Amino acid sequence: MPSIPAVPPVASKNQRGDTLTTPRARPDDYLPVLMFHSIGRGAGPEFRRWQVDPGLFQEQIEALVAAGYRLVGMSAALDDPADRTVGVTFDDAYQDFVEAAGILRSAGCGATVYAPTRYVGAEASWLAGPDTGLSIMDWSELAEVAAAGIEVGSHGHTHLEMDVLRAGRQRAEVALSRRILQTRLGQPVRSFCYPHGYNSAATRAAVRDAGFDSACEVGFGLHRRDGDRFAIRRLIVTNDTRPEDMEHLVRFGQGVPDTALRRAARIPWRLYRRAKFYTAVGK
Ligand SMILES: [Zn+2]
Repeated sequence: MPSIPAVPPVASKNQRGDTLTTPRARPDDYLPVLMFHSIGRGAGPEFRRWQVDPGLFQEQIEALVAAGYRLVGMSAALDDPADRTVGVTFDDAYQDFVEAAGILRSAGCGATVYAPTRYVGAEASWLAGPDTGLSIMDWSELAEVAAAGIEVGSHGHTHLEMDVLRAGRQRAEVALSRRILQTRLGQPVRSFCYPHGYNSAATRAAVRDAGFDSACEVGFGLHRRDGDRFAIRRLIVTNDTRPEDMEHLVRFGQGVPDTALRRAARIPWRLYRRAKFYTAVGK
């Protein structure tokens, strides 16, 4: 049973000033999932928004813990429908996650970190400008955080926009990344995260058939617990998310409803990206 009363429909503002008017069901109908990338300093202007200073990160986490939330990895969050559970996820497995894992551990929190297997121990060359030099954890660092209770999931093999790839290529990317992670870490790998968030029905089928049991997109919203486990919406936490706004974020979301209009707009955008990708690779 929920331990806090049902939340009435709200018309409030998030930190960007967007008005939130989405009616809320009971709090435990939703699973808030936080999305982080890098926890560090010194990113270039294009990536700066996605890099949270470690001191701020600690305060963001501690604000939720102090408010009575339980912060856990993706599989643990899906397995445990308890109220006030929050999933915590990190895309790309940057090397600075080793420090973030220490902060999480000190606060008694878990998380899932999603690794793109081809880039393990290498640099994030898909990023632009100076950020291409950001390092991805190597296998010993991934094994170290896994041993400390962090869930390691897959972020694909080559960090490509999956939904523009032909179905066979999508299946190969997904299955290869899972096989490599399971072999190197010696444990089952349950969670997937779509690179850049992009996914289609074929992508979701590929991930399910490869043996994963959940997958995250971006979504800018709260995941409904009775919704699609292969299209889990997340809340973006950036370097300008104030600790005092964290509870509002996990209760009310980011105020971008997943409307039919938004979903329909994804199709022409995908066709454009697909044409661009296959022109670039010459196939
Ligand atoms: Zn990524």
